[in-house]
Amino acid sequence: MTTCEVPRSEYGWVEPLAEARPALEDEITCDVAVVGGGYTGMAAALRLAERGAEVVLLEAGFCCCGASSRNAGQLTGAPAGDPQILYMMHPRRLRGVVRFGEAAVDFTEKLIERLGIDCEYEPTGNVAAAVSQGQLRKAQRNTRILRDMGADVEFGTGRELGLPEAFLGGSFERSGGHLNTGKFALGLREALLGSGAHVFERSPVRAVEPDSTGAVVSTRNGRVRAGRVLLATNAYSRELAITPKRMAAPVLVSEVETEPIDPERLEAVGWTSRAGIITQHNLMQNYRLTRRSTIITGVRRLRKGRGHLDPCCKPDQAVVADLLRGFRDHFPSLRDVAAQRAWGGWVAMTPPWLPVAGKAAENVFYAGGYNGHGLAQAPYLGTLLADRMADERCHEDLDAVWRRRSWFPPTPVSNALTLRAAWALDRISDRLSRLTN
Ligand SMILES: Cc1cc2nc3c(=O)[nH]c(=O)nc-3n(C[C@H](O)[C@H](O)[C@H](O)COP(=O)(O)OP(=O)(O)OC[C@H]3O[C@@H](n4cnc5c(N)ncnc54)[C@H](O)[C@@H]3O)c2cc1C
Repeated sequence: MTTCEVPRSEYGWVEPLAEARPALEDEITCDVAVVGGGYTGMAAALRLAERGAEVVLLEAGFCCCGASSRNAGQLTGAPAGDPQILYMMHPRRLRGVVRFGEAAVDFTEKLIERLGIDCEYEPTGNVAAAVSQGQLRKAQRNTRILRDMGADVEFGTGRELGLPEAFLGGSFERSGGHLNTGKFALGLREALLGSGAHVFERSPVRAVEPDSTGAVVSTRNGRVRAGRVLLATNAYSRELAITPKRMAAPVLVSEVETEPIDPERLEAVGWTSRAGIITQHNLMQNYRLTRRSTIITGVRRLRKGRGHLDPCCKPDQAVVADLLRGFRDHFPSLRDVAAQRAWGGWVAMTPPWLPVAGKAAENVFYAGGYNGHGLAQAPYLGTLLADRMADERCHEDLDAVWRRRSWFPPTPVSNALTLRAAWALDRISDRLSRLTN
């Protein structure tokens, strides 16, 4: 893949919508107001509307303009962090979180089917794959931990799992696969618009103020008086004062897509299973095939967000070049394939390294923080929370991520120094494994 000056797009899979819904310019009343129109907010608003509630959704840009139209499209139920560390941090909670993740994949597959969304879904599963002997041992260990927690995963060699030669083996997550995330997000938006929910786009919420009957949600030119409010702003959540402090730290993730690759050359790579790939580095590199015969790769180097988050979030050229170095190492026969475009998006990292949901005030709920694994988890958590808001019942999968106290400790996981150190350690271990091979 050639490195110099890859075009960096302001958007991921969806360009700004010419027919975005008008902004809120009025004072209205409803049962539930949802703030944020990503997968979490759209799925929650859809469920509430289907249950007969009067629901209003307020989105700063257009529905899905955040991470929900920028991700790599790998549908996975796996927890986002290292399973061994997660087990040490949450020995009692992890089993429930694993169950939540697998149920999320199942839920999202059924949602795609129920709404009839043609999003090029390929149920290939995903592999947490090793590119060194050290990573192979890590994959074996993680497979054991996840299986003990009830996950449907198995260990296999690269050949058994139908992976390209550079991938020695890994932990195969049978459920899930990959899809066209733009088509999925737009399909969800279309279902929402047809559901009876009142959707206002270009309507950044400035404040949510609880009162005795619910809360008042204010935008520049409008106000919504709601019985209940759901905050679904994910990586942007700290911009609203009512969000619990330190709930989610924004981190910029970048993706690169190759130009279309000749089918014979792709076949020669030996990726027979077409399963999504996530390496076992501290900061993983992901790979997936698309229906347009391209490969998408991402992550590897992360940047912490400071101040007001740039909605365009174009990746740095240095990050793109670094991703391409990884691509060339792992796909040596495709070294000459050019990169077509690169883009970025904000993910929300949480102190417990798990998704979170809870109450910010008596009638104000929040959900989000998928640590980069929200494609399945966000629509599921949005839906579970909608049910919880409608009838007070807490599904056991919601219970797995529910916070009884909305206090979050300071965390080093997503600080700039930790992120740089994690990247440097990955590169050192890559070099060592090249020397020993
Ligand atoms: C580059 C990248 C790659 C990824 N790859 C994967 C992957 O392969 N698999 C996977 O499972 N996950 C992946 N993810 C993570 C996944 O995309 C997210 O976890 C998921 O989209 C989160 O959905 P959400 O609705 O919670 O947040 P978002 O989609 O970010 O939605 C939040 C919305 O809130 C709106 N908003 C913010 N503030 C306000 C306000 N004040 N008023 C009104 N609206 C507001 C924003 O405009 C935005 O639309 C990736 C993410 C990125 C960025």
